[in-house]
Amino acid sequence: MQNTTTEKVKYLIIGQGLVGTWMSYHLDNAGISYKIINDPNIQSATSVASGVINPVTGRRIVQTWMIDTILPFAVAHYKLIAEKLKIDIIRTAPIILIHPSEQMNESFEYRLNNENIYLFKQDSIKWNPYFKITNGTGAINECYWMDLNKMTKKWKQYLIDTNKFIASHFDCNDIILKEGSVRWKNIEAEEIIFCDGLNTMHNPYFHTLPFAPNKGQALIIKVPGLPNEHIYKNNVSIVPWTDDLFWVGSNYEWTFNDDKPTQDFKDKMMSSLDNFLVLPYEVIDHIVGIRPANTQRRPFVGTHPMYPQLAICNGMGTKGCSLAPYFTHQLIEHLENNNEIEPEANVHRFSSILKEINKN
Ligand SMILES: Cc1cc2nc3c(=O)[nH]c(=O)nc-3n(C[C@H](O)[C@H](O)[C@H](O)COP(=O)(O)OP(=O)(O)OC[C@H]3O[C@@H](n4cnc5c(N)ncnc54)[C@H](O)[C@@H]3O)c2cc1C
Repeated sequence: MQNTTTEKVKYLIIGQGLVGTWMSYHLDNAGISYKIINDPNIQSATSVASGVINPVTGRRIVQTWMIDTILPFAVAHYKLIAEKLKIDIIRTAPIILIHPSEQMNESFEYRLNNENIYLFKQDSIKWNPYFKITNGTGAINECYWMDLNKMTKKWKQYLIDTNKFIASHFDCNDIILKEGSVRWKNIEAEEIIFCDGLNTMHNPYFHTLPFAPNKGQALIIKVPGLPNEHIYKNNVSIVPWTDDLFWVGSNYEWTFNDDKPTQDFKDKMMSSLDNFLVLPYEVIDHIVGIRPANTQRRPFVGTHPMYPQLAICNGMGTKGCSLAPYFTHQLIEHLENNNEIEPEANVHRFSSILKEINKN
Protein backbone atom coordinates (compact mmCIF):
# COMPACT_ATOMS: atom_id res chain seq x y z
CA MET A 1 0.00 0.00 0.00
CA GLN A 2 1.30 3.50 -0.86
CA ASN A 3 2.35 5.70 2.05
CA THR A 4 0.33 8.95 1.81
CA THR A 5 1.36 10.51 5.14
CA THR A 6 2.73 13.99 4.68
CA GLU A 7 6.20 14.54 6.08
CA LYS A 8 7.03 18.12 7.05
CA VAL A 9 10.60 19.45 6.96
CA LYS A 10 11.95 22.97 6.83
CA TYR A 11 14.28 22.40 3.88
CA LEU A 12 14.40 19.98 0.98
CA ILE A 13 17.87 19.92 -0.62
CA ILE A 14 18.33 18.68 -4.20
CA GLY A 15 21.75 17.11 -4.87
CA GLN A 16 24.47 15.73 -2.61
CA GLY A 17 27.66 16.76 -4.35
CA LEU A 18 30.02 19.12 -2.55
CA VAL A 19 27.40 21.89 -2.22
CA GLY A 20 24.56 19.62 -1.02
CA THR A 21 26.94 17.99 1.45
CA TRP A 22 27.86 21.35 2.98
CA MET A 23 24.29 22.62 2.92
CA SER A 24 23.07 19.59 4.85
CA TYR A 25 26.08 19.68 7.20
CA HIS A 26 25.33 23.27 8.30
CA LEU A 27 21.59 22.54 8.72
CA ASP A 28 22.40 19.42 10.69
CA ASN A 29 24.75 21.36 12.92
CA ALA A 30 22.10 23.99 13.61
CA GLY A 31 19.50 21.31 14.40
CA ILE A 32 17.21 22.42 11.55
CA SER A 33 15.03 19.76 9.88
CA TYR A 34 15.76 18.77 6.27
CA LYS A 35 15.78 15.96 3.73
CA ILE A 36 18.19 15.60 0.83
CA ILE A 37 17.49 13.95 -2.53
CA ASN A 38 20.27 12.65 -4.74
CA ASP A 39 20.07 10.70 -7.97
CA PRO A 40 22.89 8.12 -7.92
CA ASN A 41 22.71 7.80 -11.71
CA ILE A 42 23.76 11.41 -12.33
CA GLN A 43 27.51 11.84 -12.06
CA SER A 44 28.74 14.67 -9.85
CA ALA A 45 31.62 17.02 -10.65
CA THR A 46 32.71 16.46 -7.06
CA SER A 47 33.54 12.79 -7.65
CA VAL A 48 36.31 13.61 -10.16
CA ALA A 49 37.67 16.84 -8.61
CA SER A 50 41.23 16.78 -7.33
CA GLY A 51 40.12 18.43 -4.09
CA VAL A 52 42.67 21.24 -3.98
CA ILE A 53 42.39 24.68 -2.42
CA ASN A 54 45.07 26.95 -3.84
CA PRO A 55 44.98 30.56 -2.58
CA VAL A 56 46.64 32.00 -5.71
CA THR A 57 45.73 31.85 -9.36
CA GLY A 58 46.81 32.67 -12.91
CA ARG A 59 50.08 33.41 -14.61
CA ARG A 60 50.54 36.52 -12.45
CA ILE A 61 50.07 34.38 -9.31
CA VAL A 62 47.58 36.72 -7.63
CA GLN A 63 45.26 35.92 -4.70
CA THR A 64 41.90 34.33 -5.55
CA TRP A 65 38.59 36.09 -4.90
CA MET A 66 37.71 36.56 -1.17
CA ILE A 67 40.38 34.04 -0.14
CA ASP A 68 41.18 35.83 3.15
CA THR A 69 37.63 35.20 4.35
CA ILE A 70 36.85 31.95 2.59
CA LEU A 71 40.02 29.95 3.28
CA PRO A 72 40.00 30.04 7.11
CA PHE A 73 36.26 29.26 7.10
CA ALA A 74 36.69 26.31 4.74
CA VAL A 75 39.68 24.84 6.59
CA ALA A 76 37.95 25.08 9.98
CA HIS A 77 34.81 23.40 8.61
CA TYR A 78 36.59 20.55 6.76
CA LYS A 79 38.27 19.83 10.11
CA LEU A 80 34.90 19.88 11.88
CA ILE A 81 33.18 17.53 9.44
CA ALA A 82 36.22 15.21 9.59
CA GLU A 83 35.93 15.17 13.37
CA LYS A 84 32.19 14.49 13.26
CA LEU A 85 32.62 11.62 10.79
CA LYS A 86 35.81 10.37 12.48
CA ILE A 87 37.74 10.36 9.20
CA ASP A 88 40.90 11.93 7.88
CA ILE A 89 39.98 14.11 4.88
CA ILE A 90 42.00 17.33 4.97
CA ARG A 91 45.71 17.96 4.95
CA THR A 92 48.01 20.84 4.18
CA ALA A 93 49.81 20.06 0.95
CA PRO A 94 52.18 22.78 -0.30
CA ILE A 95 52.22 23.09 -4.08
CA ILE A 96 55.71 22.50 -5.46
CA LEU A 97 56.07 24.49 -8.67
CA ILE A 98 58.38 22.97 -11.26
CA HIS A 99 58.41 26.01 -13.54
CA PRO A 100 57.57 24.98 -17.11
CA SER A 101 59.28 28.05 -18.63
CA GLU A 102 61.73 30.82 -17.81
CA GLN A 103 58.78 33.25 -18.02
CA MET A 104 56.97 31.40 -15.20
CA ASN A 105 60.15 31.43 -13.15
CA GLU A 106 60.37 35.22 -13.64
CA SER A 107 56.69 35.70 -12.68
CA PHE A 108 57.29 33.69 -9.53
CA GLU A 109 60.44 35.66 -8.59
CA TYR A 110 58.59 38.93 -9.20
CA ARG A 111 55.62 37.97 -7.00
CA LEU A 112 57.94 36.57 -4.34
CA ASN A 113 59.28 40.09 -3.87
CA ASN A 114 56.04 42.03 -4.50
CA GLU A 115 52.89 41.76 -2.35
CA ASN A 116 53.76 38.20 -1.50
CA ILE A 117 51.79 36.26 1.11
CA TYR A 118 51.80 32.63 0.01
CA LEU A 119 54.94 32.01 -2.06
CA PHE A 120 58.22 30.65 -0.74
CA LYS A 121 61.52 29.50 -2.21
CA GLN A 122 62.37 25.86 -2.86
CA ASP A 123 65.71 24.18 -3.24
CA SER A 124 65.62 22.41 -6.62
CA ILE A 125 68.14 19.81 -5.42
CA LYS A 126 65.48 18.20 -3.22
CA TRP A 127 63.25 17.56 -6.22
CA ASN A 128 65.88 16.39 -8.74
CA PRO A 129 65.29 12.67 -8.00
CA TYR A 130 61.65 13.03 -9.08
CA PHE A 131 61.44 15.73 -11.76
CA LYS A 132 63.37 17.05 -14.74
CA ILE A 133 64.01 20.64 -13.61
CA THR A 134 65.18 23.16 -16.22
CA ASN A 135 63.58 26.46 -15.13
CA GLY A 136 63.83 26.38 -11.36
CA THR A 137 61.33 25.62 -8.61
CA GLY A 138 59.13 27.46 -6.15
CA ALA A 139 56.32 26.67 -3.75
CA ILE A 140 52.93 27.89 -2.54
CA ASN A 141 51.93 27.71 1.11
CA GLU A 142 48.45 27.49 2.66
CA CYS A 143 47.29 24.95 0.07
CA TYR A 144 45.04 22.13 1.16
CA TRP A 145 44.03 18.77 -0.24
CA MET A 146 40.69 17.20 0.60
CA ASP A 147 39.59 13.62 0.02
CA LEU A 148 36.19 14.62 -1.38
CA ASN A 149 35.05 11.10 -2.29
CA LYS A 150 35.71 9.86 1.23
CA MET A 151 33.87 12.86 2.68
CA THR A 152 30.74 12.69 0.48
CA LYS A 153 30.44 8.90 0.86
CA LYS A 154 30.77 9.00 4.63
CA TRP A 155 28.37 11.93 4.88
CA LYS A 156 25.87 10.06 2.69
CA GLN A 157 26.05 7.12 5.10
CA TYR A 158 25.40 9.50 8.01
CA LEU A 159 22.37 10.92 6.14
CA ILE A 160 21.04 7.41 5.49
CA ASP A 161 21.55 6.41 9.13
CA THR A 162 19.67 9.49 10.34
CA ASN A 163 16.85 8.98 7.82
CA LYS A 164 17.51 12.21 5.90
CA PHE A 165 18.63 10.78 2.54
CA ILE A 166 16.34 9.98 -0.40
CA ALA A 167 17.95 8.15 -3.32
CA SER A 168 15.73 9.35 -6.15
CA HIS A 169 15.57 11.46 -9.26
CA PHE A 170 14.03 14.89 -8.65
CA ASP A 171 11.87 16.47 -11.33
CA CYS A 172 10.63 20.06 -11.02
CA ASN A 173 7.35 19.00 -12.68
CA ASP A 174 6.54 17.08 -9.49
CA ILE A 175 6.53 20.12 -7.22
CA ILE A 176 3.46 22.06 -6.10
CA LEU A 177 4.16 25.64 -5.05
CA LYS A 178 1.98 26.90 -2.20
CA GLU A 179 1.89 30.12 -0.18
CA GLY A 180 4.99 29.86 2.05
CA SER A 181 5.75 26.24 1.22
CA VAL A 182 6.42 23.75 -1.54
CA ARG A 183 5.38 20.13 -1.87
CA TRP A 184 7.32 17.28 -3.54
CA LYS A 185 5.48 13.95 -3.45
CA ASN A 186 4.69 13.33 0.24
CA ILE A 187 7.17 15.93 1.54
CA GLU A 188 6.07 19.43 2.50
CA ALA A 189 8.97 21.88 2.90
CA GLU A 190 9.19 25.60 3.60
CA GLU A 191 11.97 25.84 1.06
CA ILE A 192 13.63 23.80 -1.68
CA ILE A 193 17.36 24.48 -2.07
CA PHE A 194 18.80 23.50 -5.44
CA CYS A 195 22.35 22.16 -5.07
CA ASP A 196 22.12 19.96 -8.16
CA GLY A 197 25.08 21.34 -10.12
CA LEU A 198 24.57 21.46 -13.86
CA ASN A 199 21.12 19.90 -13.61
CA THR A 200 19.89 23.43 -12.79
CA MET A 201 20.32 24.23 -16.48
CA HIS A 202 17.12 22.18 -17.03
CA ASN A 203 15.27 23.77 -14.10
CA PRO A 204 12.32 25.91 -15.32
CA TYR A 205 12.84 28.44 -12.48
CA PHE A 206 16.62 28.96 -12.72
CA HIS A 207 17.65 27.76 -16.18
CA THR A 208 18.29 31.28 -17.53
CA LEU A 209 21.27 31.78 -15.24
CA PRO A 210 24.44 32.15 -17.33
CA PHE A 211 25.93 28.70 -16.80
CA ALA A 212 29.00 27.92 -18.91
CA PRO A 213 29.64 24.16 -18.42
CA ASN A 214 33.27 23.24 -18.53
CA LYS A 215 34.51 19.72 -19.19
CA GLY A 216 37.60 18.55 -17.32
CA GLN A 217 39.50 15.27 -17.57
CA ALA A 218 42.12 13.62 -15.38
CA LEU A 219 44.29 10.51 -15.35
CA ILE A 220 44.71 8.43 -12.23
CA ILE A 221 48.28 7.14 -12.07
CA LYS A 222 50.58 5.10 -9.88
CA VAL A 223 54.10 6.51 -9.32
CA PRO A 224 56.03 4.29 -6.92
CA GLY A 225 58.42 6.39 -4.83
CA LEU A 226 56.81 9.83 -5.30
CA PRO A 227 56.15 11.45 -1.87
CA ASN A 228 52.41 12.12 -1.45
CA GLU A 229 52.54 15.00 1.05
CA HIS A 230 52.75 17.58 -1.75
CA ILE A 231 50.95 18.72 -4.86
CA TYR A 232 53.22 19.12 -7.90
CA LYS A 233 52.59 21.60 -10.68
CA ASN A 234 54.26 22.05 -14.04
CA ASN A 235 52.06 22.31 -17.17
CA VAL A 236 49.91 19.74 -15.38
CA SER A 237 49.14 19.15 -11.72
CA ILE A 238 49.94 15.91 -9.87
CA VAL A 239 47.76 15.62 -6.78
CA PRO A 240 47.56 12.86 -4.14
CA TRP A 241 44.46 10.69 -4.72
CA THR A 242 43.28 7.73 -2.69
CA ASP A 243 45.73 5.09 -1.39
CA ASP A 244 49.05 5.29 -3.27
CA LEU A 245 47.58 6.84 -6.41
CA PHE A 246 47.90 10.33 -7.92
CA TRP A 247 45.42 12.45 -9.90
CA VAL A 248 46.90 14.14 -13.02
CA GLY A 249 45.16 16.96 -14.84
CA SER A 250 43.35 18.85 -15.85
CA ASN A 251 42.08 20.68 -18.90
CA TYR A 252 39.28 23.21 -19.47
CA GLU A 253 37.03 22.40 -22.44
CA TRP A 254 34.41 25.07 -23.15
CA THR A 255 33.03 23.31 -26.21
CA PHE A 256 32.40 19.58 -26.17
CA ASN A 257 29.87 17.08 -27.50
CA ASP A 258 29.84 14.52 -24.71
CA ASP A 259 31.19 13.71 -21.27
CA LYS A 260 33.49 10.90 -22.47
CA PRO A 261 37.28 10.67 -21.96
CA THR A 262 39.33 11.49 -25.07
CA GLN A 263 42.50 9.86 -26.40
CA ASP A 264 43.83 13.34 -27.25
CA PHE A 265 43.74 14.37 -23.57
CA LYS A 266 45.40 11.14 -22.48
CA ASP A 267 48.19 11.56 -25.06
CA LYS A 268 48.81 15.18 -23.99
CA MET A 269 48.98 14.30 -20.29
CA MET A 270 51.32 11.39 -20.90
CA SER A 271 53.56 13.53 -23.08
CA SER A 272 53.72 16.19 -20.30
CA LEU A 273 54.44 13.52 -17.69
CA ASP A 274 57.20 12.03 -19.87
CA ASN A 275 58.82 15.48 -20.13
CA PHE A 276 58.63 16.30 -16.45
CA LEU A 277 58.65 13.14 -14.35
CA VAL A 278 61.85 11.18 -13.74
CA LEU A 279 60.09 8.25 -12.06
CA PRO A 280 58.22 5.60 -14.07
CA TYR A 281 54.42 5.67 -13.83
CA GLU A 282 51.43 3.55 -14.77
CA VAL A 283 48.02 4.89 -15.89
CA ILE A 284 45.25 3.27 -13.83
CA ASP A 285 42.15 5.23 -14.87
CA HIS A 286 40.90 8.15 -16.97
CA ILE A 287 38.04 10.18 -15.44
CA VAL A 288 35.85 13.05 -16.65
CA GLY A 289 33.53 15.62 -15.10
CA ILE A 290 31.69 18.78 -16.07
CA ARG A 291 32.27 21.81 -13.86
CA PRO A 292 29.18 23.92 -13.04
CA ALA A 293 30.99 27.07 -14.18
CA ASN A 294 29.47 30.35 -15.28
CA THR A 295 30.42 33.35 -17.36
CA GLN A 296 30.96 35.64 -14.33
CA ARG A 297 33.07 33.20 -12.26
CA ARG A 298 30.98 33.99 -9.18
CA PRO A 299 28.52 31.64 -7.43
CA PHE A 300 24.71 31.79 -7.66
CA VAL A 301 23.39 32.11 -4.10
CA GLY A 302 19.95 33.15 -2.88
CA THR A 303 16.23 32.85 -3.45
CA HIS A 304 14.22 33.16 -6.64
CA PRO A 305 12.98 36.79 -6.97
CA MET A 306 9.38 35.61 -7.63
CA TYR A 307 9.24 32.33 -5.70
CA PRO A 308 10.92 32.82 -2.31
CA GLN A 309 10.26 29.13 -1.49
CA LEU A 310 12.91 28.22 -4.10
CA ALA A 311 16.58 28.85 -3.33
CA ILE A 312 19.82 28.01 -5.09
CA CYS A 313 23.50 27.51 -4.22
CA ASN A 314 25.40 26.72 -7.38
CA GLY A 315 27.87 27.93 -10.02
CA MET A 316 30.99 27.01 -8.00
CA GLY A 317 33.01 26.47 -11.19
CA THR A 318 36.63 25.50 -10.56
CA LYS A 319 36.60 26.52 -6.88
CA GLY A 320 33.92 24.41 -5.19
CA CYS A 321 36.26 23.19 -2.43
CA SER A 322 36.78 26.65 -0.99
CA LEU A 323 33.49 28.33 -1.97
CA ALA A 324 30.98 25.62 -1.00
CA PRO A 325 31.48 25.56 2.81
CA TYR A 326 31.24 29.37 3.02
CA PHE A 327 28.36 30.12 0.64
CA THR A 328 26.12 27.27 1.84
CA HIS A 329 26.48 28.74 5.33
CA GLN A 330 25.78 32.22 4.04
CA LEU A 331 22.58 31.06 2.33
CA ILE A 332 21.33 29.41 5.52
CA GLU A 333 22.12 32.56 7.53
CA HIS A 334 20.13 34.51 4.96
CA LEU A 335 17.13 32.16 5.03
CA GLU A 336 17.09 31.81 8.82
CA ASN A 337 18.16 35.29 9.96
CA ASN A 338 17.82 37.47 6.88
CA ASN A 339 21.59 38.15 6.85
CA GLU A 340 22.94 39.72 3.68
CA ILE A 341 24.36 37.54 0.91
CA GLU A 342 27.65 38.72 -0.60
CA PRO A 343 26.39 41.01 -3.42
CA GLU A 344 28.77 39.54 -6.04
CA ALA A 345 27.38 36.06 -5.31
CA ASN A 346 23.72 36.97 -4.77
CA VAL A 347 21.50 35.46 -7.45
CA HIS A 348 19.37 38.62 -7.31
CA ARG A 349 21.92 40.21 -9.62
CA PHE A 350 20.03 38.22 -12.27
CA SER A 351 16.55 39.24 -11.03
CA SER A 352 15.45 40.66 -14.34
CA ILE A 353 16.22 37.53 -16.39
CA LEU A 354 14.82 35.25 -13.70
CA LYS A 355 11.57 37.29 -13.64
CA GLU A 356 11.35 37.64 -17.41
CA ILE A 357 11.35 33.94 -17.99
CA ASN A 358 8.49 33.35 -15.58
CA LYS A 359 6.25 35.90 -17.30
CA ASN A 360 6.24 33.70 -20.43
C1 LIG B 1 38.33 17.52 -13.46
C2 LIG B 1 37.86 18.46 -12.38
C3 LIG B 1 38.75 18.86 -11.38
C4 LIG B 1 38.33 19.73 -10.36
N1 LIG B 1 39.21 20.07 -9.37
C5 LIG B 1 38.83 20.93 -8.39
C6 LIG B 1 39.72 21.29 -7.35
O1 LIG B 1 40.85 20.78 -7.25
N2 LIG B 1 39.32 22.21 -6.44
C7 LIG B 1 38.08 22.78 -6.47
O2 LIG B 1 37.77 23.63 -5.63
N3 LIG B 1 37.19 22.43 -7.43
C8 LIG B 1 37.54 21.53 -8.39
N4 LIG B 1 36.65 21.18 -9.37
C9 LIG B 1 35.33 21.81 -9.37
C10 LIG B 1 34.40 21.12 -8.37
O3 LIG B 1 34.32 19.77 -8.73
C11 LIG B 1 33.01 21.76 -8.40
O4 LIG B 1 33.10 23.15 -8.14
C12 LIG B 1 32.10 21.16 -7.34
O5 LIG B 1 32.29 19.78 -7.23
C13 LIG B 1 30.64 21.44 -7.66
O6 LIG B 1 29.85 20.81 -6.69
P1 LIG B 1 28.26 20.79 -6.83
O7 LIG B 1 27.74 20.14 -5.58
O8 LIG B 1 27.75 22.14 -7.20
O9 LIG B 1 27.94 19.88 -8.11
P2 LIG B 1 28.05 18.30 -8.27
O10 LIG B 1 29.25 17.77 -7.59
O11 LIG B 1 27.91 18.02 -9.73
O12 LIG B 1 26.79 17.72 -7.49
C14 LIG B 1 25.46 17.79 -7.97
C15 LIG B 1 24.69 16.64 -7.36
O13 LIG B 1 23.30 16.74 -7.71
C16 LIG B 1 22.80 15.47 -8.05
N5 LIG B 1 21.69 15.67 -9.00
C17 LIG B 1 21.74 16.31 -10.19
N6 LIG B 1 20.53 16.31 -10.76
C18 LIG B 1 19.70 15.67 -9.91
C19 LIG B 1 18.30 15.34 -9.96
N7 LIG B 1 17.51 15.70 -10.99
N8 LIG B 1 17.75 14.65 -8.93
C20 LIG B 1 18.52 14.30 -7.86
N9 LIG B 1 19.85 14.58 -7.76
C21 LIG B 1 20.42 15.26 -8.79
C22 LIG B 1 23.99 14.73 -8.70
O14 LIG B 1 23.82 13.34 -8.58
C23 LIG B 1 25.15 15.26 -7.86
O15 LIG B 1 25.41 14.40 -6.77
C24 LIG B 1 37.02 20.26 -10.38
C25 LIG B 1 36.12 19.82 -11.34
C26 LIG B 1 36.53 18.93 -12.34
C27 LIG B 1 35.54 18.47 -13.37
